[in-house]
Amino acid sequence: MTSAAAYEATIGLEVHVQLRTASKLFCGCANEFGAPPNTLTCPVCLGHPGSLPVLNGEAILLGLRAAAALDCSLPAMIRFDRKNYFYPDLPKGFQISQHSGAVGLDGAVEYWDEEGGGTVAVERVHLEEDTAKAVHAEAYVRPGETLLDFNRSGVPLMEVVSRPVITSPEMARRYIVAVRQTLIDVGVSDCGLEKGAFRIDTNISVKPKGEAKLGEQVEIKNLNSIRAMEAALEYEFERQREILAGGGKVERVTLHYDDATGETTPTRFKEVRADYRYFAEPDLPPVALPASYVEKVRADDFAPPAARIRELREGYDTTLAEAEMLAFAPAYYDFLGRAAAAYGGERRAVVNWLVGDVTRELKERGEELADAKLTPEGLASLLKLLDAGEVNVPGAREVLAALMNEGGDPAALLEAKGLGQISDAGALEELVRAAAAANPKAVADLRAGKERARGALVGYVMKETKGRANPQIVNELITKVIAAGD
Ligand SMILES: [Zn+2]
Repeated sequence: MTSAAAYEATIGLEVHVQLRTASKLFCGCANEFGAPPNTLTCPVCLGHPGSLPVLNGEAILLGLRAAAALDCSLPAMIRFDRKNYFYPDLPKGFQISQHSGAVGLDGAVEYWDEEGGGTVAVERVHLEEDTAKAVHAEAYVRPGETLLDFNRSGVPLMEVVSRPVITSPEMARRYIVAVRQTLIDVGVSDCGLEKGAFRIDTNISVKPKGEAKLGEQVEIKNLNSIRAMEAALEYEFERQREILAGGGKVERVTLHYDDATGETTPTRFKEVRADYRYFAEPDLPPVALPASYVEKVRADDFAPPAARIRELREGYDTTLAEAEMLAFAPAYYDFLGRAAAAYGGERRAVVNWLVGDVTRELKERGEELADAKLTPEGLASLLKLLDAGEVNVPGAREVLAALMNEGGDPAALLEAKGLGQISDAGALEELVRAAAAANPKAVADLRAGKERARGALVGYVMKETKGRANPQIVNELITKVIAAGD
């Protein structure tokens, strides 16, 4: 019997990303999602014979910027090719794509996980035009019919192709999250999965562990969420392992993943690459990119998302989940950096307050951090008051709530609200003695070594001081009073 661990997966990923340009790739029609069907069209993007494409320079810039952020080498010349195939969503009979003149080659994407992460090699980044959209599910489509919406036809699409070096569905997810975040960070796309602005194709083959020759490759097309991609790969890894373990042969097919059943089913037999009959697009001459232009794209001081995760994990002692929350919410990331700099104390304390009390308060108010009256400097001042013993934790929480309501200076709020911590040992000792007199049983229990009885005395003092007593001093005084035996 062969166990699951005796097999390994080889996974490659292709991501299609719609670029955030004002107009389409080869015409002046608006690049917009959600307009009424077939209202954003012209002869070029409808594929009328004789219409001529005009290249959108903004799309080239965004493509190059993305390629640079994915650590690709940038070309001196870009070209477009015709990829010939027939499909109802492509009336021209060809798609204008980049076969040989891509905007980026040989990149690398760093991903992160609990074990420190790793790197996935990117083969290429190229541009192409999106196709029209086949519409089945809308209310205005009769059963059994398919309608075509050409608003999407000609929208600039960027394809990021990984090398087949991914070895598990989880690693595939980590890589995709890193790619998506990188593209959002450099502003080339909003990568909205629900709008179809970020679509994933994947291929997976399985072979006995240690075997040099790759297994037969199976493709899964049009995955519309990262979760669906991971689930589809897990299902397919398992399916192929079972076939191989049973002595069978995996067939080379293209599969569709059904989100509802969690299973893959064959769509059509794979077209071979040569079938596309690529040739240089005769209506678009190659574009030479001046070195100074390429340098400018590259010079962007861009820190990849994995670097921010590392900074937060190592410099702020965060968990991975905290780092992901802080690194990819710009308002939080900026706030944290400024608050830590203003505070100067233990950075972990700033994280605790930010992901704990501050986030909880924001949620209760239905507010965003960017709109709150709390400033990084205000939080830093509050933490300094805590460190100095001027306020205890419950008092600090009240000051925080006030800071979020009205802003202002924490020390002044402390004063105005009478929340300052009482650390005067003389005053507190009197209260501790009163607590002892009022709770003879607790005193007897404490003397008998039952530490839990301490709570009654602390509670008494806190009630008398409206929670403002310094708990550390109160505890020291209780110990002293009990030991004195009077
Ligand atoms: Zn158009």
